[in-house]
Amino acid sequence: MHQSISGLELGDVDPGLFELLDERTLQWALQYLSRRSQDAAYPLSPGIKPGEVADLFPAEPPASPQSPGEILNLFETNIVPHTMGWNTDGFMGYFGLGSSLVAVIAQKLEAVLTQTRMQWSTSPAATELEKVVLGWIKRLLGLPDTWFGMLHTNSRVDLALVAALEAQGYDISSKGFAGLPQFCCYASTEAHGANEKAMAMVGLGKNNLRRIAVDDRYCMDSNALRQAIEKDIQLGYMPLMVIATIGTTSTTSIDPIPAIADICEEYGLWLHVDAAYAGLFAIDPEMRWILSGCERAESFTTNPHKLLYTPFDHSIFFIKRPELLKQALRSNAAYLVHSGTPGATDLYDFTDKIPHRFPALTLWMVLCFFGVDGIISRQRRMRELAQVVMQRVRAHPEMEVMAPAPFTVVCFRAHPQGMRGRQLNALNKRLMDEINTRGRYFISDTILQGRFTLRIAIGNIKTDQEPVDGLWQEVITVLEELKRDFMPTAGSLPLEGIEIRAS
Ligand code: PLP
Repeated sequence: MHQSISGLELGDVDPGLFELLDERTLQWALQYLSRRSQDAAYPLSPGIKPGEVADLFPAEPPASPQSPGEILNLFETNIVPHTMGWNTDGFMGYFGLGSSLVAVIAQKLEAVLTQTRMQWSTSPAATELEKVVLGWIKRLLGLPDTWFGMLHTNSRVDLALVAALEAQGYDISSKGFAGLPQFCCYASTEAHGANEKAMAMVGLGKNNLRRIAVDDRYCMDSNALRQAIEKDIQLGYMPLMVIATIGTTSTTSIDPIPAIADICEEYGLWLHVDAAYAGLFAIDPEMRWILSGCERAESFTTNPHKLLYTPFDHSIFFIKRPELLKQALRSNAAYLVHSGTPGATDLYDFTDKIPHRFPALTLWMVLCFFGVDGIISRQRRMRELAQVVMQRVRAHPEMEVMAPAPFTVVCFRAHPQGMRGRQLNALNKRLMDEINTRGRYFISDTILQGRFTLRIAIGNIKTDQEPVDGLWQEVITVLEELKRDFMPTAGSLPLEGIEIRAS
């Protein structure tokens, strides 16, 4: 029963109304989170054209207050149906696999507190809880206890680059690059696009990220890395950093960290490990091997918002020598410089942002709510489901596994007999588009060796056997329909679709 907290003044809304709104939004949230792919009221992927959402809104904001009920109605009619169903059981497209109910609650509490942990004194709890939970994570992953950790909004290769430049001893953060040789960095052809963005942001230049060839399992070829470094040295470049990935975005391949660490030590290069997607699988002792050699890295990143049931904006960055970041980024803002607290760590000294919210609250609540055992058992279940899909692909005469699946992403394609090259690519693109248009499931694609490849990424906390079975059934059904349409005249399958190298 609704009870009003009479006598309180909130400043912006009547407390009784706040309770009513809270009740309504809670009901809505529970309904949204408990919807199943089978009975989705609207497609996971809204089939609308650019501009259609904006057109639903007036050009000017309301001059006088709109009623909260009206605002929530508009949220439900104009916004929700035009969002992507990231946080649903049928979403198996990209990483960023959705948040848990406890994280939703934590975010609400965080919004109530509205903390900014720029200095220790501006939020001792936010500062110290971050240290506590990142200490837990280090121990769970078997990473060096001495590493310094911080939470960021996303994985921060740019911060690793800043620290690596600082480590060169040229005081680049103060004086810039004038008179210095051209630095270059290395990542595999499968590494994430965020690496190029970071090169651009730090001023090193996207073209100076060398893309190193991978082997047939999509892991960085360490011999090719060595050759590329040698070539750059001969040409007068200054090699700076190698970015090794544990869980690449397309196939979730694992670069050979120990071999790469040997090379980094030999040439004096910074080793940054991008374990954005897969690193947290090492919470499970039986998966600890994936981080083998990472203790030799200078910096390391992994994202709870991909694997630990938190919403976006929860990314962990560990660094062996945090003093390099402090040297480069310490702020001398007049309004802050005298307010430091002796003996305290002011987290804003170690990053480019001054105010920052309280991300540790959500991570802490999630860790406590599920417990380590609860997280491990869920991760194992997700990995099992991925193996179920792999077995189905292998067992199907017209399907083909396109890459190993060490975690929860399956790369595959349909491959009816006699169909090749661009036709095959076009068929698989149609298959994906049709599944996504039907709206109960969402899958994604990638290109592997010129071949259009379908990706099923399992990981949302609500995804269990049922949506995985349902998706597989849909894949088979749609494939049969497409074959019916096109196979009798396979030669006439339209050659349109993506133009990629045929195989
Ligand atoms: N690295 C890898 C391997 C990824 O898969 C991704 C995103 O999918 C990123 C980095 C960037 O993620 P974010 O910007 O969320 O940190």
